[in-house]
Amino acid sequence: MSSTFSAPKGTFDLLSPESEAYLAIREALAAPLRRAGYRYIETPTFEQTALFERGVGESTDVVSKEMYSFTTRGGDNLTLKPEGTAGVVRAVIQHRLHTGQLPVKLWYSGTYYRYERPQAGRYRHFSQVGAEAIGVDDPALDAEVIALGVTAYRDLGLSQVRLLLNSLGDKTCRPIYRAALVKFLAKLDLDAETRRRADINPLRVLDDKRPEVAKQVADAPVIVDSLCDECRAHYDAVRGFLADLGVSWEETPRLVRGLDYYTRTTFEFVHDGLGAQSAVGGGGRYDGLSEDIGGPELPGIGWALGVDRTMLAMKAEGIGSPATGACDVFGVPLGTAAKRRLVTVISELRERGISADLAYGDRGLKGAMKAADRSGAKLAIVLGDRDLEAGSAQLKDLASGEQAAVSLDELITTVEGRLR
Ligand code: AMP
Repeated sequence: MSSTFSAPKGTFDLLSPESEAYLAIREALAAPLRRAGYRYIETPTFEQTALFERGVGESTDVVSKEMYSFTTRGGDNLTLKPEGTAGVVRAVIQHRLHTGQLPVKLWYSGTYYRYERPQAGRYRHFSQVGAEAIGVDDPALDAEVIALGVTAYRDLGLSQVRLLLNSLGDKTCRPIYRAALVKFLAKLDLDAETRRRADINPLRVLDDKRPEVAKQVADAPVIVDSLCDECRAHYDAVRGFLADLGVSWEETPRLVRGLDYYTRTTFEFVHDGLGAQSAVGGGGRYDGLSEDIGGPELPGIGWALGVDRTMLAMKAEGIGSPATGACDVFGVPLGTAAKRRLVTVISELRERGISADLAYGDRGLKGAMKAADRSGAKLAIVLGDRDLEAGSAQLKDLASGEQAAVSLDELITTVEGRLR
């Protein structure tokens, strides 16, 4: 019996030209960060499970239900990273980056793993580009991080990304708010599962999209009304800097996020063309995270933008893929001597920075021309043994079909000129 394999549920293969679009999107999302002094960091695909339990928070769906955790042959408990921030903060502490210049500004790009129920825009293996600015608590830095996200989407041509903004308070004012919310929720008619959720993390109930819950929490107290003076001043300052930077936002007092470490500034980028999974990116300040994972007091602010959903948002707005990956020139050799020559011509074009490919496999004119058309190249160089003897090649414009003989001595410069 023969058996075939498919990619596991909730995962997918990225094939060209979409795969090229992904690369280009990752680059584009990172470009504003690189211009703003963020340095690239790569951390391992897996970390100690306890890092996420303590960093992301045991009450979150991510930690309680969605982690890919395993015990190694050596007995270590490890987890495929479900998000990027905990590993980056772990690395900052481990390598004592915080003892150098502050803030430590870092960016990363990678794949993350969550055992979620797969649906459009929600996968078990997905990519993010992330940014973290660590070691300084300055509202101007919150605004910088947010504005860089806004720039990234804008530079990709997206015009329908909205910024939702909230402050979640800090360890002074959040407990007081939380107590008020618990009191409010106790009076409601909630099912057992929601009540359990309310006991562990009452703020998450505000985020419940089911109408029967949403209706009941419509007039729940919101955190912005309970912010302490420091948090209020911080939030006002963030909004001031955002306004100065020309960033517009929507106050979203019910915005809470799926990871426990957020304090003060919290935000999400949403796109209305995506259906239920409307968040294309999100982030916030996480001033207690370093201490939660055994590090020094170290404030931080960051975001993660989803590459997959950014791609879907671009499709929804009808924005063409930013890269095709097609070659500019395709060589069609007809005969042994012609092939030897064309192999070196194609190599020389590549050396000069022109993307070029060749019909391999000695397919004959028809098959090779078909390959040239499929390659997406602008120009084909057709070289037969008789052309070679005559010292010329046929240069064909694959869009118009026009073809002309070009002397082999002038072939490279002619191709360069045609592509300019
Ligand atoms: P989070 O780390 O949950 O704040 O997510 C940040 C961004 O990553 C989201 O706004 C999404 O764009 C993306 N993302 C998170 N989870 C998934 C998933 N399961 N599938 C695809 N994208 C995701």
